[in-house]
Amino acid sequence: MSENGHENKSIILPSSITVRELAVSLGSSPIDIIKTLMSNGVMANINQQIDFDTAAIVAAEMGFEASLETIAEEIKEDLGEVPLWRQVIMNEDPAKLVPRPPVVTILGHVDHGKTTLLDAIRHTNVVEGEAGGITQHIGAYQAEHNGRLITFLDTPGHAAFTAMRARGAQGADVVVLVVAADDGVMPQTREAIAHARAAKVPIVVAANKIDKPNADLDRLKQQLAEVGLVPDDWDGDTIVVPLSAKRKIGLDDLMEAILLVADNLEILANPDGQVLGTVIEAERDRTRGPLATLLVQNGTLQVGDVVIAGNTYGRLKAMFDNRGRRVRKAGPSTPVSVMGLSDVPEAGDIFRTVENERDARSIVAERIQQQRESTRAQRNTMTLEQLFDRFQSGDVRELPLIIKADVQGSLEPIIHEVNELGKGDIKINILYAETGNIGENDVMLASASKAIVIGFNVQADTAARRLADSEGVDIRLYDIIYRLTEDLEKALKGMLEPEERQVVIGHAQVRAVFRISKLGNVAGCLVTSGELRRNAYIRVLRNGSVVHEGPIGSLKHLQEDVREVRTGFECGVSVKQFDDFKVGDELECFVTEKVAVA
Ligand code: GDP
Repeated sequence: MSENGHENKSIILPSSITVRELAVSLGSSPIDIIKTLMSNGVMANINQQIDFDTAAIVAAEMGFEASLETIAEEIKEDLGEVPLWRQVIMNEDPAKLVPRPPVVTILGHVDHGKTTLLDAIRHTNVVEGEAGGITQHIGAYQAEHNGRLITFLDTPGHAAFTAMRARGAQGADVVVLVVAADDGVMPQTREAIAHARAAKVPIVVAANKIDKPNADLDRLKQQLAEVGLVPDDWDGDTIVVPLSAKRKIGLDDLMEAILLVADNLEILANPDGQVLGTVIEAERDRTRGPLATLLVQNGTLQVGDVVIAGNTYGRLKAMFDNRGRRVRKAGPSTPVSVMGLSDVPEAGDIFRTVENERDARSIVAERIQQQRESTRAQRNTMTLEQLFDRFQSGDVRELPLIIKADVQGSLEPIIHEVNELGKGDIKINILYAETGNIGENDVMLASASKAIVIGFNVQADTAARRLADSEGVDIRLYDIIYRLTEDLEKALKGMLEPEERQVVIGHAQVRAVFRISKLGNVAGCLVTSGELRRNAYIRVLRNGSVVHEGPIGSLKHLQEDVREVRTGFECGVSVKQFDDFKVGDELECFVTEKVAVA
């Protein structure tokens, strides 16, 4: 009984919950929760995690009796280096493995013809459906060539691909890289190559738009050779298929090439084994409820199966193929659109079947719980400091790197030096090395590949730094090659000094610039968040780019030298060896602290 004489309502809470989630669970407002916490001596913001005991006290004050959620044992899903579905297949009885159709994903620079190619193959090689003769867009389809099937993932673009890889669920056996023969190798082409290499998926090049008068196949082959894709007619091992997606020329050659590459790989699965695969697409249909396209990668999925996909589950009520036909079974490499999940899973989620809905429910509850508890420290990414431990434990035998430098001239010696270092036990795998600042794409790829981003005489832009922070990606900036190689060498030997990490403590906006004879230019600022500290560093940001970074020279408030200035106050700041403030610049104030080796 509670104090007010009413019986307490009971509520089940997890071992850790955010203030916001607790408010939702208790049907209260976050403000009330924060107030209740404060009255119990706990200061918390809305996104803060609080433990069960604390949440239970708050709940009790609000008339609830809380009990701790019990957790069912989950089958361990180790998303290590090898995608889970491949691990499952590797664990199957080899005698039961049979060939399955190759799964192909199409990548390439924007406007080089990915969509046109996917449409051309669909219209040429997919037998039209009976219902109205229209193929359905379900995110994947199967095409036929000489009586053999090829599964195409019909979601071009790197975002989907990266999302899938980030979850360790990369599903493709072969990448078709579309490069327009009139345009050649472009930034996203290189990015796509890096993605495919990181996922260790072979590439077939579709040299598209050969119908165009300015198409230049030789120049394209030259460029491909330069990025390590040496065409087979130049004694390399990359098949380059000239084609025109628009005029449907060369499509058969492409299908032939895909099957040729596939025949050199072991593309196998056990149709009678554990049912598992990847969610390709999912949406909520107004009449039919959650619809998801599942790519079966092992086993045979059947109507009536209970499926867990990401954080959702359900018993499959119906399945459709890409021709819109109802099917009862789907074997390995088959994409099917399914009805019956209780909610919409995310593209890239892994699905598998379980015995019954009770198991499904408890596994999903446990999964949600674990996600809540997962902190930055537990993320799948790593820092240079953490590498050695992982090398030693045998978890990792390879150090993936992304290298960005100011000019081509500095890239070459860096690549050379780094490759020298990678000749020992632990291989260094350069995903790509390019000129230019570090951007979001670099960080996204690093996160998906557990790579470290190395910058030489370049900066990371604001968005990249923010993403790196939230994804836990290690960006390391150098201006001396020797320092860079020294750090890598130390990391490989486990001798890296504790890292100095930058902690941002405040922001200010430049409102005016004054010339003071002794100090040079001083920025008149308003502190917009946190504080500026006299012994800290300033990063000057203009239109999102870093224009300078350096120690504070002087910090004044109303002509007085001060040690710190807080949010809402004005101040005058000078930065050592920097004069070029502009009105509108943003100043980011940071301190460095040493972080112990993890
Ligand atoms: P995506 O961004 O890679 O998906 O490129 P799209 O498939 O949307 O194609 C971009 C443009 O190139 C469109 O205007 C297409 O019609 C055109 N295109 C695609 N393939 C060919 C081709 O083989 N020849 C010519 N001339 N144009 C093509």
